[in-house]
Amino acid sequence: MNQRLISISLLIAAFPILASGSSIAYRPTQPPIDWNHYQDEAVSLLQDYIRIDTANPPGNELAAAEFFHRLFDAADIPNRIYVFAPGRADFYAVLKGDGALRPLILLNHMDVVRADGGGWTVPPFSGEIVNGNLYGRGAVDMKDEGLLQAMVLLIAARQHLHFKRDLVFLATADEEVDDQGSAWLLAHHPELIADAEYLITEGGSNLKYADHETIYGIGVAEKAPLWIRLTARSRGGHGSIPLMDSAPNQLIRALNRVINWEPPVRLIPAVKEYFRNIARLEQEPLASEFRRIQKSIHNPDFVEQLTENERFNYQIRDTISLTMLRAGEQANVIPGKATAQLDARLLPGEAPQQFIDELRSVIGNDRIRIQSVSPFRIPNASSAHTRLYRIIKQVIHQNDPQALVTPVLNSGYTESQMYRQRGIICYGFSPVVVTPEVEATEHAANERVPVDQIRSGVRMMFEIVTRAANQ
Ligand SMILES: [Zn+2]
Repeated sequence: MNQRLISISLLIAAFPILASGSSIAYRPTQPPIDWNHYQDEAVSLLQDYIRIDTANPPGNELAAAEFFHRLFDAADIPNRIYVFAPGRADFYAVLKGDGALRPLILLNHMDVVRADGGGWTVPPFSGEIVNGNLYGRGAVDMKDEGLLQAMVLLIAARQHLHFKRDLVFLATADEEVDDQGSAWLLAHHPELIADAEYLITEGGSNLKYADHETIYGIGVAEKAPLWIRLTARSRGGHGSIPLMDSAPNQLIRALNRVINWEPPVRLIPAVKEYFRNIARLEQEPLASEFRRIQKSIHNPDFVEQLTENERFNYQIRDTISLTMLRAGEQANVIPGKATAQLDARLLPGEAPQQFIDELRSVIGNDRIRIQSVSPFRIPNASSAHTRLYRIIKQVIHQNDPQALVTPVLNSGYTESQMYRQRGIICYGFSPVVVTPEVEATEHAANERVPVDQIRSGVRMMFEIVTRAANQ
């Protein structure tokens, strides 16, 4: 007898009325789900999907949209391809619910980063399976998740399941370069996502370590990039006669202040929970500090420890990386202009203009011009205290009772930001668990996904989405 059967029989003993009388608990009219069949299908469809070369640029997502179109048509699920440029398209499908609850969107991007960097042991668009791993560009970013999301709708349609929410499947173009696919869709067909309550897409990270339990990180918040250019101008001259206030000298003094500046610490709710959750993985005294993070964050020694750890530092404050420097063309000529670019990343809740004003006072030199050179993007977050979050956590623990489930703040940016602005609660979540070694193949050579994770992933994704579709 497996553990699941034990818990079901306990549940029946505890709630005899529910077990005998409820049509929700037992629906004899529905055919049983042949999981083995669907798992085989998921693996072979993922191979087909990876073989469609959607390296971006140029993208060619239309071919991937046609792949989904054939699948959904065969299952009688209403769907449509939206071509917005030659070879570029978004794909939309919907399984209608009875409307008692608001829609749930499954969002995935069809494009992948290019794979011509070399170093692959199998061709990057072969979808070959070697030693239990399915290889190919997109295997973990994010054709795996896109295919698993598609499988949920296909299975639900074939099993004739009924839901309270519409289940929307949305596959977009161009996420890896310019987000044109989602931008076009939101501008031209906002009705497709109108009134949605929840959205699931990439941006989570589930890691299996050799020495401790699996960590499921659910992406609930993202920092926003703010690219800033500093320009110093001054009189130029001959290198033999130094100018104290030359453009390069002014710029270097300004940068010296910038790189030594530690923006103030601020704990957003997701990060607070993250530290509390991971406390059990840490040694003392750090574990206790993490458990009472709200207090310990006022202890300068503890903050210094966090600051020294790059994985923690980015979560507790806005950050700045100096990424570009430019001045001069000749060794004996003092140039009249020097520039630098900074990649700042802001926490949710931060106002970009205010950050630039603070930076201006840190630099303290009016002659340095400070410009934003990226469009302002709003840092964004969703609450981790929702029904969908609870369901995701429940289903993970049903499969792996020891797993650590925690909200995470992404240092990077996903399409979630565009949908959170529309009032939709967005989570970065995929059921696929990998080792850090496999995760490192994302955007790199030999990208791959364990076949057993695709097989278990179909069930987990189905369980989460179908549960959420009715509560
Ligand atoms: Zn991606």
